[in-house]
Amino acid sequence: MQTYPQELQNALAFLKEHDDFLIVSHVQPDGDAVSSTLAVGWLLSCLGKNYVMVNEGPIPRRMSYLWHSDQVLDLSKNPLDTKYRNVICVDCADFQRVGKTQQDFSEDARILNIDHHPTNDGYGEVQLIVPEAAATAEILLDLIEYAEIPLTTDIATALYTGLLTDTGGFRYSNTSPKVMAQASRLLGFGVDGPGLSELLLEQITYPQLQILTKALTKLQMSEDGLISWVSITPEDMAETGAINEDLEGIVNYPRNVQGVEVGMLFKVIHDNAVKVSMRSAGKVDVAAICHSFGGGGHVRAAGARIEGQLEEIIQLVVERVKEQL
Ligand code: 5GP
Ligand code: MN
Repeated sequence: MQTYPQELQNALAFLKEHDDFLIVSHVQPDGDAVSSTLAVGWLLSCLGKNYVMVNEGPIPRRMSYLWHSDQVLDLSKNPLDTKYRNVICVDCADFQRVGKTQQDFSEDARILNIDHHPTNDGYGEVQLIVPEAAATAEILLDLIEYAEIPLTTDIATALYTGLLTDTGGFRYSNTSPKVMAQASRLLGFGVDGPGLSELLLEQITYPQLQILTKALTKLQMSEDGLISWVSITPEDMAETGAINEDLEGIVNYPRNVQGVEVGMLFKVIHDNAVKVSMRSAGKVDVAAICHSFGGGGHVRAAGARIEGQLEEIIQLVVERVKEQL
């Protein structure tokens, strides 16, 4: 029995009542975003509904093994010619996180908001927001089970991918007994758990190793050793041939230094904008800090995009973290 049957019922009613859905997730999608997009698509296909899956950009190459991942349209290459009234947003804490896909929403769009970020602002007509969930994939497994639709290996693999990546390989503090029970059920459907860990958490590409090397040479520490950070510029990206998905996990290096409470990665997006990723060892609520900069996330993992020059942003954010320590 789920602990939020009313929300599940409302979400399922939304899917059953309407048709011709647009399924979107956040910009620069991670494992949970991609898997959740596909899980909703799969659920809709089981319900006999029509849908289109889109993202503002490409999905990470290493996730191409996922069921129908090639059908998630990259909006930067495939603009849609229709606007959609029925929209499902997954893993997006606020409306802006959908990025340019909002161009495909009709003016009177009704949105089903499925997410697990505590900073979710509750946009949309119907909400299925579960901040206790480790991943949006966790909520979707609940929804699929609530709908009494039997899983296949393919979709179990997608859901496992979301759980695996958002819990850092079942190691972060969001790895609840429920997550482990779900993972166990998913393995029972034939998911290759060790294979996915190897592919998603162990393997690195050569550009990924090079960009990591560059970032680490720039590692800085606050005087008290409680804050550590690295930065990456467009020049670093160009020199190493790294792409955005190669930055996954770099922020864990400053965060993992013994004694560090907050680790950060500053990525220069362009002349006047920086994306900051923050990770906390537990004392500092980085979601609150990122929220104060217009971003969001979880207590121990959050992000924001901030306008300004790299050095001034580093100073500003480091100061804000110091206030919280
Ligand atoms: P990452 O640092 O890996 O990009 O993101 C860490 C967490 O913070 C994820 O849960 C992600 O969804 C959230 N997050 C990252 N950037 C943003 C942002 O710009 N806005 C919001 N609301 N959340 C973000
Ligand atoms: Mn997520």
